[in-house]
Amino acid sequence: MLLDATPIKDGLPKKFYDAKRLLLKLGLEAKRIDCCVDGCMLYYDNDVALTECKFCNKPRYHAKNVGTSNKKPLPVKAMFYFPITPRLQRLFASIQTASQMSWHYDNRRSSGMLRHPSDGEAWKHFDRVHADFAIDPQNVRLGLCTNGFNPYIQASSSPYSCWPIIVTPYNLPSKMCMTKPYIFLTCVIPGPFNPMVGIDVYLQPLIDDLKKIMEWCYDIGCFKKAKFHDEGNFDVDY
Ligand SMILES: [Zn+2]
Repeated sequence: MLLDATPIKDGLPKKFYDAKRLLLKLGLEAKRIDCCVDGCMLYYDNDVALTECKFCNKPRYHAKNVGTSNKKPLPVKAMFYFPITPRLQRLFASIQTASQMSWHYDNRRSSGMLRHPSDGEAWKHFDRVHADFAIDPQNVRLGLCTNGFNPYIQASSSPYSCWPIIVTPYNLPSKMCMTKPYIFLTCVIPGPFNPMVGIDVYLQPLIDDLKKIMEWCYDIGCFKKAKFHDEGNFDVDY
């Protein structure tokens, strides 16, 4: 359908499978993680093999799919997670963006004018409280936001709202950090309703990845010493 709708077809993958392979090479994979229908937990990490929710005991899969030999059971509910680590690594793999990752530090002003989040009192307070993090201007500072989104306005009369989680690196100058290439979609929380306070359940994979990145930062000194391979992996220049 996309091929039919696109005027210039050169270089577009012919099959959905080819498109997925292309994105994988760019380090832009997507993971589907099953979750409890009521949002109590994710079937993830130590709970990946469970078949019912450990809090409300509701089943993970639709009953009609369980036990049939050649069909993969269909989860009642699943979320998408787009791993943040390779996306952040790419910022440092490009000369254009790597040089801008300390913009917030190199362009400090005391004019009292608010041009960028780094001019705000919250940023300065964070620097005072977390001086060991602030000491390296290339450490990544992320903003996270979400809002309900109804993908079925025309097609469905019953209300449905999914929740995309957007992460933005605020190291970059204002003209970059709120533009499309640097706004990362990290999770899509399935509907049909607002997850409310249970939103943190769905943020678990993102938080785990951010914790790992923090450990690397402290292990290797700082990101600017890291060298990146084409595949998106990186090793360290000691
Ligand atoms: Zn549950």
